[in-house]
Amino acid sequence: MKTYKHSCSLDCYDLCKFKISVDNDIVKKIDGDENNSFTKGFICNKGRKHLDRLYHKDRLLKPLLKINGEFQEIDFNQALEIVSNKLTFYKNAFGSQSVIHYSESGAGGFLKGIEDIFFNFYGGITTADGGTCWSAGNKAQNYDFGDCKTSDIEDILNSDTVILWGRNPYNTSIHLYERLVQAKKNNAKIVTIDPRLNETSKLATTNLKINPGSDGALAMAITKKIIDHEKFNSLFVEQHIIGFDEYKKYLDSLSLDYLLTESGITYDEILELVEMFINGKVSVFIGYGMQKYSNGGNTVRAIDALMAISGNIGKCGSGVFYSNKIYSKLLNRDPYNSSKYALNSREFMVNNFVGYINNPNNEIKSIFISKANPLNQFPNLNETIKAFNSIEFKVCFDMFMTDTAKYCDLIIPVTNTLESEDIIFSSMLMPYLMYNEKVINPSNELMDEYHFFRELAKQMKLSHYPNVTKEEYLNKVLSPINLTLNDLKKEDINLQKDKIAWSDYNFSTPSKKIEIYSNTALNDGLSPYPIYIPTEKTSDEYPLRLITPHFKDSLFSQHFIDIDGISKIYVSDSIMKKFDLNEKVKVKSKYGEIICEILLDKNLKQNLAYIFIGWNHKHGNPNFLTSNGSSEMGGQITYCDTFINIFKLV
Ligand code: SF4
Repeated sequence: MKTYKHSCSLDCYDLCKFKISVDNDIVKKIDGDENNSFTKGFICNKGRKHLDRLYHKDRLLKPLLKINGEFQEIDFNQALEIVSNKLTFYKNAFGSQSVIHYSESGAGGFLKGIEDIFFNFYGGITTADGGTCWSAGNKAQNYDFGDCKTSDIEDILNSDTVILWGRNPYNTSIHLYERLVQAKKNNAKIVTIDPRLNETSKLATTNLKINPGSDGALAMAITKKIIDHEKFNSLFVEQHIIGFDEYKKYLDSLSLDYLLTESGITYDEILELVEMFINGKVSVFIGYGMQKYSNGGNTVRAIDALMAISGNIGKCGSGVFYSNKIYSKLLNRDPYNSSKYALNSREFMVNNFVGYINNPNNEIKSIFISKANPLNQFPNLNETIKAFNSIEFKVCFDMFMTDTAKYCDLIIPVTNTLESEDIIFSSMLMPYLMYNEKVINPSNELMDEYHFFRELAKQMKLSHYPNVTKEEYLNKVLSPINLTLNDLKKEDINLQKDKIAWSDYNFSTPSKKIEIYSNTALNDGLSPYPIYIPTEKTSDEYPLRLITPHFKDSLFSQHFIDIDGISKIYVSDSIMKKFDLNEKVKVKSKYGEIICEILLDKNLKQNLAYIFIGWNHKHGNPNFLTSNGSSEMGGQITYCDTFINIFKLV
């Protein structure tokens, strides 16, 4: 039995380091690598399922071309020729920007993103701006701190209080959960703030059930009380914050009663939180769900402001944990200067996919999808599918016949992560840059995107495209940190130089301070300081808000392929009274309807329902119901501004 080093390529906070056992060219087992100090040798089922997916009976191994509505197998050379001819034709006839490339983070690894480089050399295309995941919060953190970075996760062991604000690590980040268990043993208070009692709540010392979309109101209520009691660190405010006076004036204009009513949090609960901020060091982990509302960016800005005014930035045992966008900037992401060939680049806001495609002036002729399943993950799927279908030539790179692949004209199979050599790093918690060994050969080398696009570039005579080995390419990527691929093969590199984020108080904002008042935001047409914008409320027609949190056993749609049955909707007891447990019901929003099985969550707010994200079309995908609005900053899709009603099937 031989063992290989590899890491989990799923879009997860933790990026677990694996130890892969191979016998006779068959992968036998995926274990955690106990030598990695972050993931410590334990992994979750989603990680183990890379093995199931590698040998899955439904895995696509040959390109599929749709002919008269039916998929037919072709070989890779035919696929290359078709793609080459189509791309050449569209570029000559309509310009390269008539092609969309839509990519997400469904498969991590630096070279899994080589398509971006290819399309630059092609001449520049149309790509998506905004996001399905975290873009409002990232924009907010950029306004406030000038960048997105976090402290070393081990620092929470120095915290007196750890707040999981809309975050559920039991389901989504098992290594954070493990640190929380340790922090609790150290007598830290653990607080969850969430519209539902989530799977992490049982660990918490305090659980607050907040009204969905009102997290900004709660952050402002706490800040207001801290300021009113003059319990903030005035020296810290004076030295490191811009905009305290303007923000205080704004908070003075809001009554505490209003903020409490909006958030659904009681006065006593606020006082308990204020005590935690006044009397100790606080770390806050912000979840991505809370910024999937029309006010999502201001929500994150309000939490940042609370943490700044309470002096919980740049100090041991404190800090905001949202995302870590610093690591990618350390590398040379475009080692062959592809961007200078991308002369026809343009962007559309991802929430407006339908409007953009349907506008004939945009002349979209083709779409390429990689590392993504937008016809599962985009909102307002009925309209999205119609718009997608109207595109002349649709290509998908995937391992399986996903909800998106089945609407495409050409599907090109890709490697499982274990079949590709790559380097990998995270933009979330894991601080290591790691080498992923190729564990096993794919059935065709062209399934590896790196090789497919290099061949395609050759066929299309893109003469500047780097016709180099992976090693040569990756050595250039690593050169800014004075590393070679061989160095990385020997050991993982911890990229987190500052164990405490912003401990030098040299913020990356224009003023080099925390900008609670941001001229950059003002110039973008936004309020310069965080404001509370109430979100839409439920109505008689749609009396329930629908949220779509993450399931423990699937990141997104990947691991739902083997699940039978229909999607499940969880409701409170007052709604459940009208139905039988496990009854099949019709769930309707203004965007569409699906059939679900109804289940009770006794701890849920009365006007709330949830369906875990990831169910496929065949199950009843909640994105047939979701809103395609945009947050006020960052272009985040407002999935959680979705309102539904539930009916008996007739
Ligand atoms: S999904 Fe996350 S926790 Fe699970 S193995 Fe992958 S990186 Fe680790």
